[in-house]
Amino acid sequence: MKFGGTSVGDATSICRVVEIVRRASCTDQVIVVVSAMSGVTSKLVEVANRAGNGDLKQALAILLEVKQRHESAAQPLLPSGAVKNRVMNAIRATLQETEEVCRNVCETRVLTPEKADAIAGVGERLSVYLVAAALAKAGVSCEAIEATELIVTDEHHGAAEPKMEPTRAQCQKRLRKMLGDGVIPVITGYIGATEDGTLTTLGRNSSDYSATILGAALDADEVVIWTDVDGVLTADPRLVPSARNIAEISFSEATELARCGAKVLHAKCLHPIADAGIPLRICNTFAGEQPGTRVVPGTRSDAGEVKALAAVDGLALIWVSGDEHVRISDFQVRGTIALEAVGVDIRWVCCSNSSGSLAFIVASSAAEVAAKALRSEFLSRPQKGTKSRIDVQWPISVITAVGHNVCGSSEFLEGTFDVLARRHIRVLGVSRMYSDTSFSFVVASKHMQAALAAAHENLFRQAETQNLSVGYF
Ligand code: ADP
Ligand code: MG
Repeated sequence: MKFGGTSVGDATSICRVVEIVRRASCTDQVIVVVSAMSGVTSKLVEVANRAGNGDLKQALAILLEVKQRHESAAQPLLPSGAVKNRVMNAIRATLQETEEVCRNVCETRVLTPEKADAIAGVGERLSVYLVAAALAKAGVSCEAIEATELIVTDEHHGAAEPKMEPTRAQCQKRLRKMLGDGVIPVITGYIGATEDGTLTTLGRNSSDYSATILGAALDADEVVIWTDVDGVLTADPRLVPSARNIAEISFSEATELARCGAKVLHAKCLHPIADAGIPLRICNTFAGEQPGTRVVPGTRSDAGEVKALAAVDGLALIWVSGDEHVRISDFQVRGTIALEAVGVDIRWVCCSNSSGSLAFIVASSAAEVAAKALRSEFLSRPQKGTKSRIDVQWPISVITAVGHNVCGSSEFLEGTFDVLARRHIRVLGVSRMYSDTSFSFVVASKHMQAALAAAHENLFRQAETQNLSVGYF
């Protein structure tokens, strides 16, 4: 069971976590994985950057804020006495250690990837103390463990990948007996360690990934992600309030949804459990009675049925265009090589209605570098007998419909594009990278929310009307 940042965000939420774990432990062997308290990792990343810039005063001020946040959560959770002292001391010692790292970074003005990870990974180390102590107080036998002792990774700091063989060996050695003895391991998400024991992080928001790595390493029957929404919804409820919960979704649909912007799951988290076919469930910590969403290996949806919409903002479109005689495939190959050479990640490749042009979609922050690389590739060496042009359009958003075989669904395309046209929202391009499970289109960022809402209403209206007619509300 993995609990996200909001689920461990304050004392009241941690009490809910305790109740969920206590109940589950009556019938099952449970492993708990926890994130940092909501917002804490971003603060820690800022601490690291401030220290790297020599701003020790501000770095320590933010660390103090982090300390106070944990101390004030501990107050109502723990009665005074030995346990409380132990937890407070552990929090203080961990932050003292972090302060030392910051001082060192400040003096040298070098924020190495190792030190950046050491600072960013502190939030989970702090939250396991709180969750384990709260569980113990409720009479649940448990032990806080840092995943540096369990998840063995490569040395790619900031986005480390697990090495499953040694991870499995460590987990079996360290956790099997505990589980057999009825002790619940309470493990830090987000972090691991290299073979020589240096702390690494698995990438932002990767505690879901930690949970599935541990689940796979222990051949779990199920992985449950506890979060602040009822499960995977038909769209992000923050953008589309009428989004509905989805009872079941396939591994490939869920992975595609995450890749295309749905924050509810980490994009890599289904990899470790996919081969073993370990099912995953997403549930609401704050509404445990809801059935949640089951993520299952196969698919039972109808071809062409849209399961959900996702959106990514903060992107730029860089058009490469020529006259009607140009070869688009040549644009794609040469453009891809040119962008890879300057280290720009291509998020999508898309095309427009007019022939003779193709666009690369990249993060807005990479737009300038990308446009320069494409200009030097195409303007200096145009295709024979043609002229090329490079145009940048930003900020733009990519909206993706996910579902089994959705890209072949003309019903979706026609219906949605009609609705958008009626609302005067221009579709700037459509994805060229055809996938089995998704279809993406581009709008200006200022239209993202309206486009999502319109597409959602068009796709899911019928079901909403049915719900209304049976007095659902
Ligand atoms: P946690 O801290 O529990 O990991 P996250 O913030 O990472 O939680 O993910 C949960 C959030 O994901 C929700 O609050 C919601 O706003 C967002 N989200 C985006 N797309 C979806 C979707 N399709 N279904 C559910 N939630 C979504
Ligand atoms: Mg998350």
